[in-house]
Amino acid sequence: MISIESIRKDFPILGREVYGKPLVYLDNAATTQKPQCVIDSISDAYRNVNANVHRGIHFLSQEATDMLEAARDNVRRFIGAGSTEEIIFTRGTTESINLLASSFAWAFLKEDDEVLISGMEHHSNIVPWQIQAQRYGFKLKVIPVTDLGELDMDAFDKLLGPKTKLVSITHVSNVLGTVNPVREIVAKAHKLGIPVAVDGAQSVPHISVNIKEMGADFYAFSGHKIYGPTGIGVLFGRRELLEKMPPYQGGGEMIKKVTFQGTTYNDLPYKFEAGTPDYVGSIALGVALDYVQNIGMEQIAGYESELCSYAMQRLGEIPGMRFIGNAPKRSGVVSFLVGNIHPSDMGTLLDRLGIAVRTGHHCAEPLMDRFGIPGTVRASFAFYNTKAEIDTLVAGIERVRQMF
Ligand code: PLP
Repeated sequence: MISIESIRKDFPILGREVYGKPLVYLDNAATTQKPQCVIDSISDAYRNVNANVHRGIHFLSQEATDMLEAARDNVRRFIGAGSTEEIIFTRGTTESINLLASSFAWAFLKEDDEVLISGMEHHSNIVPWQIQAQRYGFKLKVIPVTDLGELDMDAFDKLLGPKTKLVSITHVSNVLGTVNPVREIVAKAHKLGIPVAVDGAQSVPHISVNIKEMGADFYAFSGHKIYGPTGIGVLFGRRELLEKMPPYQGGGEMIKKVTFQGTTYNDLPYKFEAGTPDYVGSIALGVALDYVQNIGMEQIAGYESELCSYAMQRLGEIPGMRFIGNAPKRSGVVSFLVGNIHPSDMGTLLDRLGIAVRTGHHCAEPLMDRFGIPGTVRASFAFYNTKAEIDTLVAGIERVRQMF
């Protein structure tokens, strides 16, 4: 059982007031709040062990390096990967996918090849592929989204073919909350020898992820969405593929030997980590992962699923409520519109009541076009949210509705 009262005390910001009202923070899909242990780990690292990693023979440098590498191993365990060589630290999901797109395209993609994405991708799993498609001439194919907000799996079966060289798909939609059948997607793609990349930005904070069980060849996520700091993220990649892929950036750390005649690259994962890494961010991410593991990912998933169902039920009682995304398998996020009220009006007025929700296209403009809407109001949950906060949201929406 999760003890919400004691958990909430771990997050100092949750005690804040905005406009004289207690903060109701329901924008967790954008970023999560940080527990005190994560905040402390950042100042502890700068206060006590700060030194550049990997290059120094002095005490502090070695200690900082050990802590960074321990964090890498922590990430490996957390997502059930086989080796730390497969865990690349990046700035976040966006950088992870840009790295993947740039390096994978250079190694493997040519004219007339196809990369398969879906109609519910975040811009960060669309635009990096478009940039590389312009360079290499491959085509981007899109799995359509059904009215319920699920992937059209019949269309997926038809789109998957000899030209497909990679499937890159979100695990959980940041708009619809849909949990996609990644294992089925991986199984079908692997049957044809096609690797699969999974955008885990919205899944890793909510669902217990095991890369080996999922079978994904690449998996990306952001530290700040799982109670860690901003500016740190992860790309998991299967070793056989990473070894064939060229570096993304050049500089220090990623080389073995540099001469003006040519350069040899470092081993994995350092080949993909040019320059001074955000070792403080990595260390703090490790602390965040320890924190959620202490609560238990299964516990978190169970509690959040209860919160989500309660939110759908209570919000569903509001006249004029229209949910965008009605997939039965969902996680973390509820998107909606109420009558003719513009989402940004709703968001602005809820804000005045102390309720933080997100409004707009949520970096998924093609998905907005699919549903013929300019945007949605999105409430997104974390394990520190309560049913009472959902009641406050519902009362807030009722107040706004009566004003219109
Ligand atoms: N993918 C999904 C599904 C997301 O929800 C987000 C952020 O909201 C991203 C990718 C990008 O994450 P970041 O901005 O942390 O790089």
